[in-house]
Amino acid sequence: MKVYSEKDINLQKKYTWDSRWVQPYESAWSIFNKFMYVNSMSRNQVMYTLGVRSVRNKQTASWSKSEGDLYFLESFDPTLIQTHLGTNYKKLVNAELCYLLAVLYKPSIENLFFSNFRYCHQCLSQGFHSIFHQFKLINLCPYHDSVLSFICPSCSRVSEYNFLNNSSKVSAYTCICGHQYISKAILYEFPKRWSQPISLSNKSSINKFLTLSSEEITRLRHMSYPVYRDLTPLANPIELLIDVVKKQYSENHIIFQHNPKKNSTINIHRPLGVSKDTLGNVSLTLSLRSTYKSISRHLRHKYFKKHKQCIANFRLNRYENNGYCPYAYAFAHWTGQIEGNYPLFEMRGNRKTINADMLDFFSPKDQLNLESIFNDWIDIKYDKKRIPHSYNYKNSFSINLDNLSTSKWVFNKVYAYMLVSHFHNWLEVAKIEARKEVLYTYQIPFVKYSKMPFYSYVFTDHRSRSNCEFHLWSDVNILLKSIPNNLECPHQIS
Ligand SMILES: [Zn+2]
Ligand SMILES: [Zn+2]
Ligand SMILES: [Zn+2]
Repeated sequence: MKVYSEKDINLQKKYTWDSRWVQPYESAWSIFNKFMYVNSMSRNQVMYTLGVRSVRNKQTASWSKSEGDLYFLESFDPTLIQTHLGTNYKKLVNAELCYLLAVLYKPSIENLFFSNFRYCHQCLSQGFHSIFHQFKLINLCPYHDSVLSFICPSCSRVSEYNFLNNSSKVSAYTCICGHQYISKAILYEFPKRWSQPISLSNKSSINKFLTLSSEEITRLRHMSYPVYRDLTPLANPIELLIDVVKKQYSENHIIFQHNPKKNSTINIHRPLGVSKDTLGNVSLTLSLRSTYKSISRHLRHKYFKKHKQCIANFRLNRYENNGYCPYAYAFAHWTGQIEGNYPLFEMRGNRKTINADMLDFFSPKDQLNLESIFNDWIDIKYDKKRIPHSYNYKNSFSINLDNLSTSKWVFNKVYAYMLVSHFHNWLEVAKIEARKEVLYTYQIPFVKYSKMPFYSYVFTDHRSRSNCEFHLWSDVNILLKSIPNNLECPHQIS
């Protein structure tokens, strides 16, 4: 007796499919779920039907995370997709993904797409999901202008954007908890509903994005924005970038410009204990330090003048019994974070040593993010689009006299925002923890850049005579002024 396995049956079967059911920019997740839905297939069956040889030859249906990857579809066979679904969707999905990725000079899935599954309730109830829903530069559904969601409405689970997420056993459009995302009515209507073209909303910024000219795309590819910051609280970050691309500026839009060709004579200060500054990076570190010092002074002398004594007491461990002053508490932790003190709350005076052998961005905890801006800029300047990130400074580009004045300009702008946003965060912590006398030693108890405003740099390459631009939608002074000055201090009777 021959026992037919799930695998054998799949190879002989004919599948129900209609190419009109797939819309432009429909995601691979969506296409596969439609395929499963109309053919009542399991995820395992899809893997055995459309997988590459090594996947189909597996004796047991146990899959790795990479086999379920829906961005590059490495585990799916384009010929088999073509055979069973009539169209090579692997190629199609990859081409659409590459178009979206190509807007960045350094394309990266991680920077532009969510690793978790995000969806629009309205779209998904119709059995539709788009690659736009995974795109980090928009936060509203481009078809319905509605807010996108990461969580299952029934169990609140967040799942990965992966064909085999959590379990290969769940059926099409179903959460692991059993919740059905697709509307029940679709079962009787899908051939008609899916064949109707779905159109982008008039308000959607995706429309503007898809119709950029090649010159505009070039400008976009010379831009940088805070990829390290969580962009989900913003409506549609792409809209802000498009304004910069098209030079359409709203009232609260602030632009700073810098000409890299001017100001090229620079005075390199040689600090005590540093014998040479051949790369000019010590000069950069010192300029960052003076930005930090001036903000620190500004906070102490202007924003909470009344709490000078509180800060002095805090420094000398002369704590009172009835809780800490929130300003002294926030200021001490902030100082510790910037200067790299351990424990964080200990104010030990200014950091004195500078590492002359590397790019030292002064704040150890901001080092990686500032470094990534530097890498982006250098890549554009020297047209090194796809060089891998290098953390070995000696082999990579460095600050030199050619880029020192721009480096100072770029980093001091963004650094000021980082510093003020960190202070905001510490004051939020202080509101709750200062009274309870909870101190932090190493761990920073907040999402580091949550208060960081959105910004964008437009960098110039070596051929260009144009200015570098820094775009903002909020002034650093506004950020400073929004620091609350009315927090209750246990040492002061108001
Ligand atoms: Zn939608
Ligand atoms: Zn669920
Ligand atoms: Zn005080």
